[in-house]
Amino acid sequence: MTAERPILIRNARLLTMADGSDETSGDVLIADGMIQAVGGRIDHPDAKIVDAAGGILMPGFVDTHRHVWQTQLRSVAADWSLFDYFVRMRMIYSAFYAPDDVWLGNHIGALEALHAGVTTMVDHCHILNSPDHADAALKGLIDAGGRGVFCYGLFGNPRGHDPLVAEIAPDWLAADIRRLRAGTDFSGQDRILFGMAPAEAEATPLPHLLGELHLARELGAHSISLHVAMGGYDQGHRVVQQLADAGALGPDLLFVHGAALTAAEQSAIAEAGAGLSVTPETEMQMGMGHPLAFIAQAAGIRTGLGIDIVSNYAGDMFRQMRLMLQAERARRNAALEARGGAPRQITPTAREVLRMATLGGAEALHLEDRIGSIAPGKRADLILVRTDTINMCPTIDAVAAIVLNAAPSDIDMVMVDGRVLKRDGALTGIDWPDLAGRLQASAMRITAAADRVDRGPIEAMAAPLFANLT
Ligand SMILES: [Zn+2]
Repeated sequence: MTAERPILIRNARLLTMADGSDETSGDVLIADGMIQAVGGRIDHPDAKIVDAAGGILMPGFVDTHRHVWQTQLRSVAADWSLFDYFVRMRMIYSAFYAPDDVWLGNHIGALEALHAGVTTMVDHCHILNSPDHADAALKGLIDAGGRGVFCYGLFGNPRGHDPLVAEIAPDWLAADIRRLRAGTDFSGQDRILFGMAPAEAEATPLPHLLGELHLARELGAHSISLHVAMGGYDQGHRVVQQLADAGALGPDLLFVHGAALTAAEQSAIAEAGAGLSVTPETEMQMGMGHPLAFIAQAAGIRTGLGIDIVSNYAGDMFRQMRLMLQAERARRNAALEARGGAPRQITPTAREVLRMATLGGAEALHLEDRIGSIAPGKRADLILVRTDTINMCPTIDAVAAIVLNAAPSDIDMVMVDGRVLKRDGALTGIDWPDLAGRLQASAMRITAAADRVDRGPIEAMAAPLFANLT
């Protein structure tokens, strides 16, 4: 096998996202899937030249939290609360997913992420109704070609299409995660890392949760993804405090949401080196509190952004960056207004939120030595954004344009490990009409089956878990 030719990207406007750097220019040389050299004029006798004149070259986005399997349920959840989501998504729709549906959702969801410039993604995968579902979910990610962490979910979905027979964390899942970990799926590639998503922490007795964390660590999980401290839904569980008291915090933990984290819990997370994934759109829609990202970052927490439920939100980071930026500005401005003042200076800046969506996400996953910025020695996970489209022209300030103007359709090229997965604005090597037809058929079958379920008994079962609904 001959080595792939090096790639030399010329004439781009560079946003390296290295701390302290602003927009710059210069060439980027890529070989063996790695960034070899950055900046100035680079010459290489064998390299394939990519002329990126007029484009913005930057690291791919890092989405620290997504339930990729929900791709074919796009747009069902526009007006849902968390209670609706629990009853309808977790207890009903999930029961009707067959393994092939999971492959389609995960594969096409992973392709959608790549199309949108998300080169690394954490899949918090709680659609594992059988071992075949688990294999299909993982295969869907690997087949797409992006980087990420597959977090095997231990939540017991309803089986046999009877939502009332769900168990929170059935024993077979703990056995199956061992099977999957011991299999060959993670060997021979380091793009998709192994992780775990324990059963819902706030509905699980502490000894059981500690047992799941022990299992994750025994199996060498890179990340352990946990939903916690969900604003108004938090009923004093203080899961993070309990884990801290039990000595169970560690850098492998990735907490998600977290708006109701106490100051002591935030300090404990920072001290442990654990990560936090803030999902602005979910927090704002579902009453989970003010999205904590900038507050958590100020507390010293490794903080990234996440997209969460693609059954409701678009699968790109542009919108999440905008929501987070303006929500935080609104919070700070409102605090001044409450004291009779008005802002002289607007904070945080667009650059700060762009960092959070790239290098910040990499830090939350402890992958900053590999991804998150353009620097020699890092993997070549890069995106090239056009500035000559009708919504990007003229781009006077590259950072501002990426945060406030850009859309997935502006992304000309996406590269992971030096492999080009999107070029000239289109994903490479896929048969989209075929995939789209299969996804549509899957969606029709699942939604038709779900529509026949009487939600009344399930809502009655779920109500005690949501004691403070008003
Ligand atoms: Zn989630």
